[in-house]
Amino acid sequence: MSTPQRQYVLKVCVVGDGAVGKTSLIIRYTEGHFRESYIMTVGTSFAVKELNFGDTLVRLQLWDLAGQPHFSSVRPVFYRGAAGVILVFDVTRRQTFENIPGWYDEVAQVTGAVTSVLLANKVDLVDQRQVSTEEAIAYAQQLGWGYFETSAKEGHGVTDAFRQIAWTCVS
Ligand code: GDP
Ligand code: MG
Repeated sequence: MSTPQRQYVLKVCVVGDGAVGKTSLIIRYTEGHFRESYIMTVGTSFAVKELNFGDTLVRLQLWDLAGQPHFSSVRPVFYRGAAGVILVFDVTRRQTFENIPGWYDEVAQVTGAVTSVLLANKVDLVDQRQVSTEEAIAYAQQLGWGYFETSAKEGHGVTDAFRQIAWTCVS
């Protein structure tokens, strides 16, 4: 195999309320499986994935931040140096969508304007849905963000979402 001509290391933060599926999305993307039981992320965790785009190699560092409010004093440290942010809400809990602007502001206070994608997660739970595709897309478009509907459980949309943010950050 030939050596890639361009190589990047990108820090991307994954944010959103507790239990929206941040850790599950990262595990689905980096390890290819899903876990039903909920284990709260304490503090922060970190995963790395390498992606190829033709002759470009991207080492994506995914920072998974605990969403629980009592960790908010430490979170700004983890935003520093981020090239992008993945904002995740849970389509079955409307409040997690309403809280997205607060999450973006918290990140942008540290990073300035930053490449963003919005992920509507748990779309497999069709009957429990509280935020429509149309509403979420309109919101993302208004801010110039990418938008993906994902299911960490079924794997739907996950690879596309992570690849898009990586590609947008390097191009
Ligand atoms: P985090 O707090 O944002 O990191 O959320 P977790 O990844 O720990 O997920 C919270 C709960 O939601 C867990 O019980 C997961 O199994 C579940 N979950 C995560 N993603 C999905 C999904 O796409 N569909 C369904 N049905 N459940 C999910
Ligand atoms: Mg977590």
